[in-house]
Amino acid sequence: MKYFIVTYGCQMNVHESEKIAGILEKLGYECGQSREEADIIVFNTCAIREGAEDRVLGNVGALKRLKKKNKNLIIAVCGCMTQKSKTAEYLLSTFPFIDIVIGTFNIPKLGDYIEAVKKGRQLELWEEGDIDEVLPYKRTSGENAWVNIMQGCNNFCTYCIVPYVKGREKSRQEENILAEVRAILSEGKYKKITLLGQNVNSYGKDLVPQVSFAKLLHDICKIEGDFVVSFMTSHPKDLTDDVIDAVANEEKIEKYIHLPAQSGNNRILRLMNRKYTREDYIKIIDKIKAKIPNCRLTSDFIVGFPTETEEEFEDTMSLVRYVHYDNIFAFMYSPREGTVASKMDGQVDDKVKHERVNKLLALEKELQKEVK
Ligand code: SF4
Repeated sequence: MKYFIVTYGCQMNVHESEKIAGILEKLGYECGQSREEADIIVFNTCAIREGAEDRVLGNVGALKRLKKKNKNLIIAVCGCMTQKSKTAEYLLSTFPFIDIVIGTFNIPKLGDYIEAVKKGRQLELWEEGDIDEVLPYKRTSGENAWVNIMQGCNNFCTYCIVPYVKGREKSRQEENILAEVRAILSEGKYKKITLLGQNVNSYGKDLVPQVSFAKLLHDICKIEGDFVVSFMTSHPKDLTDDVIDAVANEEKIEKYIHLPAQSGNNRILRLMNRKYTREDYIKIIDKIKAKIPNCRLTSDFIVGFPTETEEEFEDTMSLVRYVHYDNIFAFMYSPREGTVASKMDGQVDDKVKHERVNKLLALEKELQKEVK
């Protein structure tokens, strides 16, 4: 019996697919090389951008042909896109050959849904679920091992669907994270541990007693072995001096911080509900540069947020010039149903968004040629 997983979206989803693979291998499935030879195909979807959703729909639709050839083929769709009940129902009604549609919290029970498929199609969306502490993972990123430290997000940036589909922040117990890191290192094949969370800087605030992200970093660095530690993603409002000091002083921590700014303009940052100003952001960057002179810096930007003017976009350009990042990821704003920003007046024309994203990426290219 073979499985084939198709993953969309961010690094957290890639790691989520490692969990799906681990569960399927425990059930006796082996990793297949193509959809054609698979007995089960799992689509692990993303809802962050419209384009990703359209691609899922197109690719799922194309499976009709395979299902015709192999009546026993199981097709499952899970992840952020299906967590939205409207989309889940749409998938089941539009594609009668899909067998399982489950949400982000139901993945640990994937085996039960596969078993139940014999009795009929499965649709289940839990509104919330416990954070998975110990699950089998089939790690697929070479010498790097991803370790999830928390799930969900409390920030409700007005453009973002994540808090609606991943729930509120839940941190894993520190001893379970440390045990997982020790177990990974004892295998002898991993040189890097990358800690994952939507907002790693607020790790541990929900634990009793609380544990800070800086403490977790220090405790991981105390584990014996030849490895580096990295983390993503940081929210500027929660990146504390303690964390910057940990990156500066702990030899095992990679000198790299991904710090999404999203915009360089205060009015747009306020509309985005980012809870920091351009000045706050620059202060953090200056601190990082002073304490960690060789630190690599990357960021995410959204252009064409509702009502963004040309002058406000220029503030983003000037921030990028000021920081001189090692790399940036620039996206055109895409309205996500159910978010506050999708209902805002003043949606920016697609043509303008294209021009702005191209301008920003051209600037980034220019800056990369210059010595920092
Ligand atoms: S911090 Fe904002 S952008 Fe990031 S996951 Fe949370 S709501 Fe989304």
